[in-house]
Amino acid sequence: MAANPIPSDQSRWGRFNVLQERNRTVLQSILEAVSTDKPTRTVVEREIGDYYAACMNEAAVDAKGLAPLKDDLDLIANMKDKAAITGVVTRMFRSGSNPFFNFGSSQDAKDSTQVIGDLDQGGIGLPERDYYLKTDDKSVDLRKRYVAHVAKMFELMGIAPDVAAKKADAVMSLETELAKGSLDVVSRRDPNKVYHKLPVKELVSLAPTFDWAAFFNGVGAPPIESLNVDVPPFIRAMESILVQTSLDDLKTYLTWHLLNDSSAVLPSIFQRETFEFYGKALRGAKEMRARWKRCVDQVDGQLPDALGQKFVEKTLGDEGKRRTQQMVAAIEKAMADDIQKLDWMTPKTKEQAMVKLHAVMNKIGTKAHWNDYSSVQIGRNDAYGNAARTSEFELHRQLAKIGKPVDKTEWQMSQPTVNAYYDPQENDINFPAGILQPPFWDNTMDDAVNYGAIGAVIGHELTHGFDDQGRQFDAQGNLRDWWTEQDAKAFEQRAECIVKEYSGFTAVDDIKLKGELTLGENTADNGGVRLAYMALLDTLAGKQPAKRDGFTAEQRLFLGFAQIWCDNHTDESARMLAQVDPHSPGEFRVNGVVSNMPEFQQAFACKIGQPMVRRPACRVW
Ligand SMILES: [Zn+2]
Repeated sequence: MAANPIPSDQSRWGRFNVLQERNRTVLQSILEAVSTDKPTRTVVEREIGDYYAACMNEAAVDAKGLAPLKDDLDLIANMKDKAAITGVVTRMFRSGSNPFFNFGSSQDAKDSTQVIGDLDQGGIGLPERDYYLKTDDKSVDLRKRYVAHVAKMFELMGIAPDVAAKKADAVMSLETELAKGSLDVVSRRDPNKVYHKLPVKELVSLAPTFDWAAFFNGVGAPPIESLNVDVPPFIRAMESILVQTSLDDLKTYLTWHLLNDSSAVLPSIFQRETFEFYGKALRGAKEMRARWKRCVDQVDGQLPDALGQKFVEKTLGDEGKRRTQQMVAAIEKAMADDIQKLDWMTPKTKEQAMVKLHAVMNKIGTKAHWNDYSSVQIGRNDAYGNAARTSEFELHRQLAKIGKPVDKTEWQMSQPTVNAYYDPQENDINFPAGILQPPFWDNTMDDAVNYGAIGAVIGHELTHGFDDQGRQFDAQGNLRDWWTEQDAKAFEQRAECIVKEYSGFTAVDDIKLKGELTLGENTADNGGVRLAYMALLDTLAGKQPAKRDGFTAEQRLFLGFAQIWCDNHTDESARMLAQVDPHSPGEFRVNGVVSNMPEFQQAFACKIGQPMVRRPACRVW
């Protein structure tokens, strides 16, 4: 950790970040090569090259000032009454700004074959609701800095400081009301608490002031009869805000949202001010990231399939894909063995668990087919327009899914991403090309290290299908209880041990981890390493290989695991993540797991009473 200090433009620095930075330089070289206007470029190269070129042209972006926003700003300023709000919100959604709420599509939690409209809480500028409500000094101070930031953004538009300060207060009070109507991060983990499939007429009765039919039509949704309203009380809170807030304050809020949501493509003075709050105050980074890094991320975010296919061509080897597939098969077999051996689960539930396990689909390395952006106009000198048009393309793509069967080849992450996920509604595990590289998968390393690293990640994702959240979905991805009452109780008791364990860890100062927020991830971490360990032993088939670098295979598995979680972070970032991140910090992702494992204690000859020997140990899977 001492040898790897946090670079000044980062707020945390771990193995994931190092690899993400390396991927970003690969993406940069791809983009630099196609960013000049050459006739030899393919369609995809022209799309990503021109998008990147427009983003990199800081002088042109600065020279335009707020001109690209003028139509939208005028639309807001010219609102004559509250009836005009639907039209303005619709227009903002189409270009990528989401005031008040979020709207898109999702799989129906209770009929996973269908895609339905999804309307969720949103519309706030701080990371989540409790930031508006907590009364400790740090939270109060951060809110002050947020209000000062909002005021500063208004000043940069040319508004006088005293007026800007009043406007910022109005934004704060409106967002606080939205926060009060929102569901907290822990409750949101319960899939039943965010599932309320309602007929549109019921939505209308929750918030009659907003013209929902006009909005759905205006953003291009197909005809909708019912949709999931994740948090109905939030929509009611929005209604009373629309009724009680003055037209001037509503205009102020919408203007702020437009500025904040577009800040990445605004002139550099707005980007710097945005960094001052979101980068520095909130996360503790010291310097803004270089422009090329921000532009690479924009292309990755707005044209993920165009850039992703170039990345995959360059980085994904057949060997990595093949070996990962083998490891997935080995780890699925370990999970089957693990389920069969469990002493706390009855045969009836075990049988259901096996059905679910055997139905898990694997997506490794790359998408089966890529989205085609050729209908989107990308200008070499139009950073703002490019972002708005690609946002609209993606909104239409998402909304076009409503009423159709699920496309199981879709991914929720771009291919260069250093991450992986389990999707409970598709019942699949997904590993983008971005993570199938050292230190996660390394063809110069032995099986033991690879099982400890990418193997533990595979085991982690698979265990998500059976954590407190995933276990509520069945083999087909439907929210349906397949557990006997007795087994559910046994599961909850075991999960409670994990909640208590991680609630005892300190993130920073006096901030403890939220054991309930991180329960699913901690369960997956604990299960993942055990499955990787079982799969390694199975692969070794009783033969102990010669020590390597002085370590046994078992020791190397645990070292491989620990090394993917090496991590330095700023205090600010630790504080924020403890509040919002369902993952525990790296230190506890490792020590919290291995201290539960007799296998670890045996591998390193730990004795009772030593820190890595937890009594009683927690074990779910
Ligand atoms: Zn996870």
